Amino acid sequence: MAAYDPENIFAKILRGEIPSTRVYEDEDTLAFMDIMPRADGHLLVIPKTPCRNLLDAAPEQLAAVMATVQKMSHAAKNAFEADGVTIQQFNEAAGGQEVFHLHFHILPRHEGVSMRPPG
Ligand code: C5P
Repeated sequence: MAAYDPENIFAKILRGEIPSTRVYEDEDTLAFMDIMPRADGHLLVIPKTPCRNLLDAAPEQLAAVMATVQKMSHAAKNAFEADGVTIQQFNEAAGGQEVFHLHFHILPRHEGVSMRPPG
């Protein structure tokens, strides 16, 4: 697996070098709005420490990120009056990953409404 690249977009967001709409932050994790939402309330959750993807993650990074994923899933479901929540996560280019800093997508879902396509 390739090494972690500290110039990836989410590392720049963490350092405040490019803008994002932050919705939650704690010592270990950050949640912000996806810039190209595929559902209303589409959020991303990332660890603050370097990690390329799930295959590269330490157990303590996963524990912290998943705790925030659960917290943000409740919050997004309530805020957007959703019926459910889809979690997505991609690993390496062949697995659909485009930004190489571990992230989980949180997508509030409504009955009978399809997710919008990427882009
Ligand atoms: O496939 P992957 O989950 O790696 O895609 C990266 C995601 O990061 C996309 O959903 C894209 O809209 C999002 N993104 C973002 N802000 C950026 C760059 C990408 O929310 N500045």
